[in-house]
Amino acid sequence: MTRRRGESRSTEVDAVVVGAGPNGLAAAVTLARAGLSVRVFERADRVGGGTASRELTLPGFVHDVCSAVHPLAFESRFFREFDLARRVDFITPDVSFAHPLDGGRAAIAYRDLERTREGLGTDGAAYASLVGPLAERAGHVADLTGNTLLRVPTSLTTALAFGAATLEQGTHAWNARFRGSAAPALLTGAAAHTSLPLPSLASSGAGLALTAYAHARGWPIPRGGSQAIADAMLEDLLAHGGTVETGVEVTSLTDLPRSRVMLLDLTPRALVQIAGRRLPARYRRTMANFRYGNASAKVDFALSEPVPWTHPELHRAGTLHLGGTRSEIAASENAVARGRLSELPYVLASQPSVFDDTRVPAGMHTLWTYTHVPSGSTADRSEAVIRRIERFAPGFRDTIVGMSSWTAAELQEHNPNYPGGDISAGTPDLFQLVRRPVLSPDPWRTPLPGVYLASASVTPGPGVHGLGGWLGARSALRHEFGIEEWPNLSLGA
Ligand SMILES: Cc1cc2nc3c(=O)[nH]c(=O)nc-3n(C[C@H](O)[C@H](O)[C@H](O)COP(=O)(O)OP(=O)(O)OC[C@H]3O[C@@H](n4cnc5c(N)ncnc54)[C@H](O)[C@@H]3O)c2cc1C
Repeated sequence: MTRRRGESRSTEVDAVVVGAGPNGLAAAVTLARAGLSVRVFERADRVGGGTASRELTLPGFVHDVCSAVHPLAFESRFFREFDLARRVDFITPDVSFAHPLDGGRAAIAYRDLERTREGLGTDGAAYASLVGPLAERAGHVADLTGNTLLRVPTSLTTALAFGAATLEQGTHAWNARFRGSAAPALLTGAAAHTSLPLPSLASSGAGLALTAYAHARGWPIPRGGSQAIADAMLEDLLAHGGTVETGVEVTSLTDLPRSRVMLLDLTPRALVQIAGRRLPARYRRTMANFRYGNASAKVDFALSEPVPWTHPELHRAGTLHLGGTRSEIAASENAVARGRLSELPYVLASQPSVFDDTRVPAGMHTLWTYTHVPSGSTADRSEAVIRRIERFAPGFRDTIVGMSSWTAAELQEHNPNYPGGDISAGTPDLFQLVRRPVLSPDPWRTPLPGVYLASASVTPGPGVHGLGGWLGARSALRHEFGIEEWPNLSLGA
């Protein structure tokens, strides 16, 4: 462990948490709320991990370093219990996500499903009959996908509807219900968040869940930036006696203060590095064989004006998927899966300053983008991203006043939880969703006494939802402290 100069030696605590991303903080809050003394160690100079916000380009321009849009802020069971919606000022755009197409056209996912149906023309009814039943049961969809898949689902109706839709959209029969190109493109834009080959069952399931949330309570963005989510958890942790040490990189479990439990917001790779030979050989092999997937390269822009989108509805979108038709997105994503950079990449974009002027100097704007690349890529994708945006917003280049571009390799340097630049902290394919990181009804528990994994590399996987930390902490409370009654996390409790 790298200690800052002048720091005192370790003291004993009930629980140590390593890593202060949303999962580490969720674990820490849950343990502190159960009455335990908790100490968190974080290598960065500020808590947040994948929910950090910083001035990445120019002074006064606050950018989300990783996550920007939060489809699970209202749907994650942890965030619901934590009352996140009452602690953070969320802005929910009427247009959850938009998908420009050539010829000045665009497919638009309004929060209002009926309006979306009307906009999709001939395929509107087919889209609504696929997505509508899931949007109506969005809370159940989140519960189904937000825990180990080995559990009996709480709603069989939802599980059947979700399973049928996932099968249909996750195979080459995915176009069977559609006649045009807009609705399939809209669905594929959401499925491609996974950076998996297309079509595939895991990308289809994730895309349909995201689309269901888009038409339920929407895809919110926090006023001031994603850091607000981390800060809300930090505030609660400190209010319940927890402490945090930032600027401390943990390199060995033996350097940590003696404690009854350790919750690690880390990847299996990092667990092997810091636990070393203490891990039983078989488990160590399983951790070493955990697979990391395709990577992302990130480009943030400071702009002198809003993006000059050709299609008027794009100005109202919180999130945009720039990748063209379903087959064009599949071609670019499948090229990345084969280890190649795509000439016409799929780009995710968010324009938070259109809704939130607290992040920018008066009249100015930011644009958050990232695109998929092969693992470990050192390619600067800023020019490819600019070209992609220019296709739907001619003149965009002239609005750029500042830019920050991170390659996949630089993303890993920034945060080792993204090995090779894999922002999912482990391929989220079907195999690794069931076995994340082991096939067990209690995958958070490791064979090391008192040591638990609590990150996006464990069930239920990537995204800002805090569930990996919350479920890991609950497992630790049950096994190490005999606590079966989960602490009340609500505001004011
Ligand atoms: C570019 C990008 C865009 C994304 N966009 C979205 C989005 O819009 N919406 C969404 O829901 N999700 C998004 N994600 C994914 C989301 O950010 C992650 O799934 C989520 O942050 C995972 O949370 P975590 O707590 O498991 O890990 P992290 O958030 O990665 O946190 C891990 C923490 O552990 C710390 N750490 C690591 N090693 C050590 C060590 N040895 N010692 C001490 N501390 C250590 C790290 O510094 C970090 O703070 C995005 C991610 C990236 C990178």
